[in-house]
Amino acid sequence: MTVAASDCIFCRIAQGEIPSGRIYADEELFAFHDIHPKRPVHFLIIPKQHLASLADATPEHQALLGKMLLKAGELARNLGLQEGFRTLINTGRIGGQEVYHLHVHILGGPEPVGPMVSG
Ligand code: 5GP
Ligand code: ZN
Repeated sequence: MTVAASDCIFCRIAQGEIPSGRIYADEELFAFHDIHPKRPVHFLIIPKQHLASLADATPEHQALLGKMLLKAGELARNLGLQEGFRTLINTGRIGGQEVYHLHVHILGGPEPVGPMVSG
């Protein structure tokens, strides 16, 4: 699915045009609380630059993808998830992706997150 950056809700969040529960921002990344948290802690890390999904990533995104995962661990620790957390990237229709701007979900809290997938 192709979405112009100006129509992309996560681009607008990253640019500060739409308020969000911001956790972290730097030149390349933006992290914020999910609006409908599935666990006591549920936040998203996105690249500021529009990239529709993991399936659209190319070798030029290698460093960016690494930074997203490193930042996931760092922010999870800062938010008290010392005992662990779930990282999740939904990709495309089959993966259940709803917002077509790449994002990593980080989920956790006092209780185990549960099975990896239902089925
Ligand atoms: P996906 O299914 O694409 O992996 O997940 C999209 C996530 O974005 C969902 O968990 C949804 O709750 C979250 N989300 C969608 N719109 C907004 C928004 O405007 N603000 C915030 N903070 N989260 C959003
Ligand atoms: Zn976008």
